[in-house]
Amino acid sequence: MNFNLNFNNVTQNYLFAEVANRTAKYAAAHPEKQVLKLGIGDITLPLAPAVIKALHSAVDEMSNKDTFQGYGPYEGYDFLRENIRTYYKSNGVELDVDEIFISDGAKSDLGNILDIFSAENTVLIPDPVYPVYVDTNVMAGRKIIYANATAENGFLPMPESNIHADIIYICSPNNPTGAAYSKSQLKEWVDYADKNNAIILYDAAYECFVKDKSLARSVFQIDGARTCAIEFCSFSKTAGFTGTRCGYTVIPKEIKKDGGSANKMWLRRQSTKFNGVPYIVQKGAAAVFTEQGQREIFANLEVYNRNAKLIAETLDELGIWYTGGKNSPYIWLKCPHNMSSWQFFDYLLENAQVVGTPGAGFGKNGEGFFRLTAFGSEKTTFEAVQRIKNLLKN
Ligand code: PLP
Repeated sequence: MNFNLNFNNVTQNYLFAEVANRTAKYAAAHPEKQVLKLGIGDITLPLAPAVIKALHSAVDEMSNKDTFQGYGPYEGYDFLRENIRTYYKSNGVELDVDEIFISDGAKSDLGNILDIFSAENTVLIPDPVYPVYVDTNVMAGRKIIYANATAENGFLPMPESNIHADIIYICSPNNPTGAAYSKSQLKEWVDYADKNNAIILYDAAYECFVKDKSLARSVFQIDGARTCAIEFCSFSKTAGFTGTRCGYTVIPKEIKKDGGSANKMWLRRQSTKFNGVPYIVQKGAAAVFTEQGQREIFANLEVYNRNAKLIAETLDELGIWYTGGKNSPYIWLKCPHNMSSWQFFDYLLENAQVVGTPGAGFGKNGEGFFRLTAFGSEKTTFEAVQRIKNLLKN
């Protein structure tokens, strides 16, 4: 046998390990100090009561031979796909149910979708970036080029006509930068993809944070996207499913090339390598779309939105440049006094006992930037911003 030697080219990402390591070391040396964490990308509020009720009831169904469920459809149950179709309709997007595929989360689908594309394809990935896009393509040996996201372009790189790409990754609202594309900016990407005969892999994991109507909640709100985009979405941040696991991918039937259809190939791929998401979990996800479910997840999202607003207002007060915080749970700030990302990490930890995430860990353009998240509790966020304010006001 031979191993896939492309794995040798996957760089070890020490980011979160190093953050945990430095934090633990500091806490051990200063047991009297309370360290506050604004670095986490995981949600902290529990599942909505409507979801819990649906999960319990589905467990009960599994105990009865008349309602018990065995293997489900590879592509997900129609009751959930129909809910998602209606949700898209409320955002002005018409989908067919068989364009929606349920999965155990966006991360799996973002990695697995590469099965249907040639290893010869050139991939365009923004820098800084959610590391999954890079690592999955390195593992497959694809050529990667980077779109530079910088302070100058507001961390929203635009297509360059002299660069050719076959697969284009867009994440909006973005992790880590919190920046979100307007519909008119996305139209430029769709036109570029069309011209290049390329596909856009659009990560909409944070769409539920978009409030501004000029920003897109789905790439399919953009004219022309149905022939050149696949969208990945998730209940993780929308409804607190990071530990429960459920997401979905939308593949329009128009995406065709050389007699092949992306929609049909994905169904073939899923039916070969995947046996579906648990019935119980899909019942829980369906409850998100009930009136009660929507009310409850909205209340949770409002907690995160208030936290984001509080962090953003604090940075405004301090005159610190940032992106995000308005249509996103992430706030991406320029480290004061030209500190490097890790210098600022240490400075904040040692002088305010606040932990964030160094931007340098997300790509070379992240150096000198720092990510704070709104996923902490209201109390932690309030206390942390007071400390940041006191430390940086001079
Ligand atoms: N996409 C982005 C940009 C993310 O930040 C995350 C999780 O943090 C995911 C996808 C993964 O989502 P899921 O929990 O559905 O796998």
